[in-house]
Amino acid sequence: MNDNLEKTTSPEKLWKSCLLYIKDKISDQAFQTWFSGILISSVSNDELVIQVPNKFHFEWLESKYRLLIDDAVKKVFSKPLVINYSVVISKKNTADIPNINDKVPLTKNYHNKSSLNKSYTFENFIEGKGNQMAKAAALSISENFGSSPFNPLLIYSHTGLGKTHLLQAIGNYIIKKRNSLKITYLTSEKFMHDFIKSIQENKTTDFANLYRKSDLLLIDDVQFFEGKEQTQEQFFHLFNDLYQKGKHIVLTMDRHPNELKGIKERLISRFKSGLTVDIHPPDLETRIAILMKKADVENLDIPYSVTEFLASSIRGNVRDLEGALTRVLAISTLSKRDVNLTLVKEVIKDILGNDAFKEITTDRVITFVSKFGKVSEKSITGKGRKKDVVLARQIAMYLSREFTGNTLSKIGLHFGKRDHSTVIHACNLIEQKIKTNNAFKNKINKLIFDIENINLER
Ligand code: ADP
Ligand code: MG
Repeated sequence: MNDNLEKTTSPEKLWKSCLLYIKDKISDQAFQTWFSGILISSVSNDELVIQVPNKFHFEWLESKYRLLIDDAVKKVFSKPLVINYSVVISKKNTADIPNINDKVPLTKNYHNKSSLNKSYTFENFIEGKGNQMAKAAALSISENFGSSPFNPLLIYSHTGLGKTHLLQAIGNYIIKKRNSLKITYLTSEKFMHDFIKSIQENKTTDFANLYRKSDLLLIDDVQFFEGKEQTQEQFFHLFNDLYQKGKHIVLTMDRHPNELKGIKERLISRFKSGLTVDIHPPDLETRIAILMKKADVENLDIPYSVTEFLASSIRGNVRDLEGALTRVLAISTLSKRDVNLTLVKEVIKDILGNDAFKEITTDRVITFVSKFGKVSEKSITGKGRKKDVVLARQIAMYLSREFTGNTLSKIGLHFGKRDHSTVIHACNLIEQKIKTNNAFKNKINKLIFDIENINLER
């Protein structure tokens, strides 16, 4: 863009062009999370001020997207500008205990629409590498309802990774678009209890008919059918009946269907006849984004240090992550203490136990990488350019970013005052190598396990 344009176009429009430029370069999800809704606050000769929801948001933009933003600004404003931020304060109610986990109870009205938790939507579901496929499949069914080839869709994962959320997101989406359809959401446990009750009351025909009217059957935690032969038999008929009528079925379970024990083979092969996708635990970026989303939905102002610390301490399970946040907020409200790092560390120690609590620092990462790569700790933070030293340094930078949540600049400083672009370069190289080289990926996973679990005697 040239000088003329800059003089005649409003800063808002120019910023919009920056956003368009950025949108092209990153994933939709990343753009939605970090850039959509970011407005310009002011612009001067050498500075551009943007509005962000909190300080953390800006720091994240700084550490992850600074080069990209600089690029966009240079192109659109035809000169580099210093990027600064202002925080837009949102209304919030600190007097009440935040009701993060205040969900619509699922114990009532199982088989009608109101049994869906309204907050389990696609909008509230943060996409990351681990759940991308599952979310895409769920969304595709919702958008192409009635003509989707993914029937049944089966989503499996360990507990707390978003299966129920996605399952209900499909229901919520379809209710909104096509209110006349009959959607059944229930757990397999509920299915069994209803079935047994219907036998006791001599109403098995009513029971069968009730579910057969569904246009969409969402059935959660199917592993519960293990060993329950009669219930399986009943479900098998329901499944076939719906399937033949072209109705849609989505199932979740806590492991791959091949690993189910005590479920009839013919049922398992039905389960697998559509699309099977799994969900892996979220990485750091996704965990942080999930916490930020929760804070956003609940209108809470949580300091950057707290989000970062929670997300890097509680790995592996989103439910635990949310639980930790809820606990922090509850304690803060009940004991009238600020939500700060001191409070969060106490809570995390409480949750994980003193022994299990290991704050992962860049130093800890370096110690383990040094052993792993058989190079000295000093050389990792030094200037040496020998091949194995360089690789160890890059791995250590990458893992520091994954584990500590420190900004790239801070990580760079730790490694012999290198600048943030060196760190970005290192992270990209290692990420690429993990993606393309399975043996390397396994080694890194083992290293990560050690960093998370091994006690250092010193
Ligand atoms: P599962 O059914 O796999 O055990 P849930 O769907 O109950 O897990 O998820 C546990 C909690 O974590 C829920 O409150 C859910 O909203 C939240 N959660 C899980 N994954 C995500 C995600 N990707 N984005 C936002 N929230 C998530
Ligand atoms: Mg569940």
